[in-house]
Amino acid sequence: MMTVGAASSSGFLAMPGVAEESVGESVTARTSSIRITRLTPHVFRDRVYVNVGTNHGIGGWGEIKGVVPSVAAALATSMFELLDGQNPTRIEHLWQTLYRAERNQRGGAFMLHCIAGIDMALWDITGKLWGVPVHRLLGGPTRDRIRIYPSAKAVKLGSGPQPLSGNPADIQPLVQSVRDARERVGPDGAVMFDAHSAIPPAMLIQFANAIEPYDVLFLEEPAVTGNIEVFRRIRDSVTVPLAAGERDRTIWGILPYLTEGVLDIVQPDCGYTGGISQMKKIATLAEAFTVPLAPHCTQSYLGMTASFHVAAAVPHLLIHESYDDELCAKFIHPQWTKQDGHVTIPDGTGLGVDVDVTQMNKLTADPSYKYRWRGPKYSRDGSIADY
Ligand SMILES: [Mg+2]
Repeated sequence: MMTVGAASSSGFLAMPGVAEESVGESVTARTSSIRITRLTPHVFRDRVYVNVGTNHGIGGWGEIKGVVPSVAAALATSMFELLDGQNPTRIEHLWQTLYRAERNQRGGAFMLHCIAGIDMALWDITGKLWGVPVHRLLGGPTRDRIRIYPSAKAVKLGSGPQPLSGNPADIQPLVQSVRDARERVGPDGAVMFDAHSAIPPAMLIQFANAIEPYDVLFLEEPAVTGNIEVFRRIRDSVTVPLAAGERDRTIWGILPYLTEGVLDIVQPDCGYTGGISQMKKIATLAEAFTVPLAPHCTQSYLGMTASFHVAAAVPHLLIHESYDDELCAKFIHPQWTKQDGHVTIPDGTGLGVDVDVTQMNKLTADPSYKYRWRGPKYSRDGSIADY
């Protein structure tokens, strides 16, 4: 059994109910004996909240979004076979275990979204066990607060599918929306524009050049993600900063954008890219290219808090997406607050998120809700568009 003498004498790991002089040894003993015993998926509308339990009574929470919820619940439950009896603090080992467990599923969106939820839960457990917030385990805070959007000083506009058209009637309203937003936020505010991969490249280039005078913070998803050739063509034709990454998963999805130099900002989504573990690695990868993160986030306060922990601990962060979800706020209670277009660094132990399961179950029972596919977006002529 390994001993941690320095830790024992200094008592740097304060754990409730453990005498200071034996803290280090207790951590060693508890981390070596703690085992995953349970995984419970809670389907809530379009997402799954996953709870991972242990034999020490410490449990962790994660959020799975962007997968048909019945499928996500079944897949996460199936993944428990690979986690049962494992030490939950071996987070990297377990991430690799899940990711490399089936070579024909490896890297797929369904698999990675589920791994992300489980990964968040493992970080939550480990932080609770050590008695520290997750960002401490990631190297500690690198900033005092996290800038977010939307806010009074940071707005993001967007476009749906557009026809390939040089008509001013198609392009001018988009340009006008950027001009109006710039006026609204003033010279010290941020304007962002999400093209949603829905504007054909030739028109996107026209549009991007037309908005140049209004100094956007970034133009998001200028092309269908992963299509590096089109990104390179756009990069060579426009000067506005380009951002993408919400639909690219893992370090291997992000790497080509960086090596090709086609993005100024990367936008990993903690819940889509493979969880806290992958998001932190993407930040390190991007750091090598001096490319900051502007994390995408449409998860509720649970997945959002996981993302905030990473954002709190990385060197290059531009701005973080953050929307209020009134329904989920009724049973998910994080320990950060919003003020002046920023959030505070998350507090508490683990993710620092309290989930009221009784309240969640009450809201889940709503018979008027039925999950439905979002369906495709359509072009003006009725054909299916990129989005
Ligand atoms: Mg987007």
